Amino acid sequence: MKDAAPTTAPETFYLKDYKPFGFEVEAVELTFKLAPNSTRVLSKIRFAPKENAADPRFFLHGEALKLISAKIDGAPVTPELIAGGLICDTPDTPFTWEAEVEIDPAANTALEGLYMSSGMYCTQCEAEGFRKITYYPDRPDVMSTFSVRIEGNEKVLLSNGNPTGSGDGWAEWHDPWPKPAYLFALVAGDLVNHPDSFTTRSGKDVELNIWVRPGDEGKCAFGMEALKKSMKWDEDVYGREYDLDIFNIVAVDDFNMGAMENKGLNIFNSSCVLASPETSTDANFERIEAIIAHEYFHNWTGNRITCRDWFQLCLKEGLTVFRDAQFTADMRSEPVKRIEDVIALRARQFPEDNGPLAHPPRPEQFQEINNFYTATVYEKGAEVIGMLKRLVGDENYAAALDLYFDRHDGQACTIEDWLKVFEDATGRDLSQFKLWYSQAGTPQVQVSEDYADGHYTLTFEQSTPPTPGQPDKAPRVIPIAVGLLSPNGGEVRATEVLELTEAKQSFTFDGLATKPVPSILREFSAPVILERETTNAERAFLLAHDTDPFNRWEAGNALATETRVSMVTEGAAPDGAYLDALEKLVRDDTLDPAFRALVLSPPSQSEIAQSLHNRGVTPDPQKIYDAAETFAQTLAQQLETSLPRLYAATTVDGPYQPDAHGAGLRALNGRILSLLTRLDGGEQAARQYQAADNMTQQYAALASLMKAENGESQSQAFFDQWQSDRLVMDKWFALQVACAAPDAAAGVASDLTGHALFDMKNPNRFRAVMGALAGNHAGFHHVSGAGYQLLAKNLIALDSLNPQTTARMCAAFQTWKRYDSARQALIRVELERILATEGLSRDTHEMVSRILQG
Ligand SMILES: [Zn+2]
Repeated sequence: MKDAAPTTAPETFYLKDYKPFGFEVEAVELTFKLAPNSTRVLSKIRFAPKENAADPRFFLHGEALKLISAKIDGAPVTPELIAGGLICDTPDTPFTWEAEVEIDPAANTALEGLYMSSGMYCTQCEAEGFRKITYYPDRPDVMSTFSVRIEGNEKVLLSNGNPTGSGDGWAEWHDPWPKPAYLFALVAGDLVNHPDSFTTRSGKDVELNIWVRPGDEGKCAFGMEALKKSMKWDEDVYGREYDLDIFNIVAVDDFNMGAMENKGLNIFNSSCVLASPETSTDANFERIEAIIAHEYFHNWTGNRITCRDWFQLCLKEGLTVFRDAQFTADMRSEPVKRIEDVIALRARQFPEDNGPLAHPPRPEQFQEINNFYTATVYEKGAEVIGMLKRLVGDENYAAALDLYFDRHDGQACTIEDWLKVFEDATGRDLSQFKLWYSQAGTPQVQVSEDYADGHYTLTFEQSTPPTPGQPDKAPRVIPIAVGLLSPNGGEVRATEVLELTEAKQSFTFDGLATKPVPSILREFSAPVILERETTNAERAFLLAHDTDPFNRWEAGNALATETRVSMVTEGAAPDGAYLDALEKLVRDDTLDPAFRALVLSPPSQSEIAQSLHNRGVTPDPQKIYDAAETFAQTLAQQLETSLPRLYAATTVDGPYQPDAHGAGLRALNGRILSLLTRLDGGEQAARQYQAADNMTQQYAALASLMKAENGESQSQAFFDQWQSDRLVMDKWFALQVACAAPDAAAGVASDLTGHALFDMKNPNRFRAVMGALAGNHAGFHHVSGAGYQLLAKNLIALDSLNPQTTARMCAAFQTWKRYDSARQALIRVELERILATEGLSRDTHEMVSRILQG
């Protein structure tokens, strides 16, 4: 089921070439006769030719299908099989197309289309997987109702929509809501359910189920609660009600993505739905709640209103990520969620935006759309919506969303449609704002200030570096939230939003008796890099006094970066004033523990590397690692007398609850424990490991011990305890590599690929080892090149099985131009080795080519 090797340069698709399909699809009927190696799919589809179609050709997508027979209006036809599908002569009037194909789900390791996972059948059709199930116009702007009959011996046979009948060995489903094929789903297996129900605000009862393999029933309750909270929240906040009689979620072990929003039948990577206190960390619980919400919210933003073509992917993803972030902020802590999101944005999206893979949130070309499920499309797409909301205000945002649902329900839409509802609802011209969708790269905003006679002026200059295919950029609309503090710490001007629209622009604040301290880009009001000449004293002042929690954290993050940079470049000692500020903050029990934990979490070593690169210094990963170690050791010594008290004060008593407050305390407790372990060699961590009754504390203790190279017996005990739990074993695999010292990381990862429980075909397990290697900054970038070699070797091996996951993991190399010429040469050899692999997939070919060329 592998993609055909590109014999010539792979085809490139362009946004500007869009043409609607030449036929209406009035109804789709599918029958599946399931068999692991020879499933038969019978399709019966009613087509009606459109008048004056721009492209009247009857072309149906199809890949890796064995065509058994085809008919039009009951008469056999012989379509011409061409690259990527078939063409056929058709009548000028509406007609019925029938086809029977055979597919091989058991051999499908790419996990696209219909495949098997641990004995169950399941599907993944986004983006272009449906064409591996049957011949069809597999494009999101073709929407139709689907009726599905499944014949198989499995106990549970599921598809989209509502059940319409079932008997021994068969079940039928009908989805009344027209949908594109990428939202089609089928599941068949010997599954058990965790049932519940939800009554919508108009009084409709909806049956809810989470379907799992026997033995996992006890891990569904949290996910079910998250689902019900999501359903209620979407009614309360967006006025959106659920629209079928039943909503099913299925957990699948082998899955390329996190989860998929198929209409009425969401399919989840089991890591994103199964949870229990014994096997899941607080971070797992929070992520599961967010992903369940995300997929559920797609029912309106993605399913009822979908994308016209895949270039518009951020229309559904940016909006839905934005909505799930709002949900998490409402369920938990708004500032903490914002800080977490910005950390993730800087870790994943900024490197993408500043490297060879940079692309706008709405790309204008692609070879393989699977390569554009990126942080730019998702997270930057969400940032763009956050800016829009800030610019028009909350009431106008709500009005525009109402108009969007009213106007476009049942349609396949574009970014233009989306912006038009905001223009119509607010009367605002958004043509300049639209540049956020078409321009790649992270804008840099330089700020300077001037104070005289009570007037305080901030001057902003924006520019965006060149990105592949976009040498020059026009100024964008950038909302900059600013507050002003008096030198004694009080706020003299509350937050207001300045609208930067020019390349250079000044804003003046009058009537200020003394020169204020500015707090700029509060709540991270725009995804930009702010550059301002300031002092560590002023940063420490903001860390102590800023009334905006995000900027308070940001000041600490900037101090952390500055001290690391001077440690690396000048061999300086850790900054004493910063250590004092950290100590004060961590001991301040009036502050939210989750916030304190975030302030205590250092910037990643990759972020320090980027920071050095931005200052024109070639980063040395080993020196960055050493600075991180020295800093943490110095901080532990500075806090020595307080650590035992802080550890005790942040220990949560009573039975484990995955709530935000408990999670915040445990996050801080985990940070304290890691510092404590640097002083006591792991005594406290060993006690915690022994006593832990939940995974958060067990895992935190194990991580601290392994980092201290004193956790061998606990690691073995952990393995013995959890070896039959796939999700917990993913943690164990990842931790071995994440905790390894730089010169050992590649060796540890290499050994793990030979472990009896390493399974390359399982994306979670592959990512656990290879993702952890790429994330071990000094280990991956070890001067020997062993990290690069090992990753490349494994990517080459995986590509023939699973191109999608292979291609995504190639992004580990995207920052390669930051490093010295010796490392660049080592990486180039590996990238060229991947590219020269015979039969390389289109997915990986495109990714590696872009990384090499950029
Ligand atoms: Zn999504």
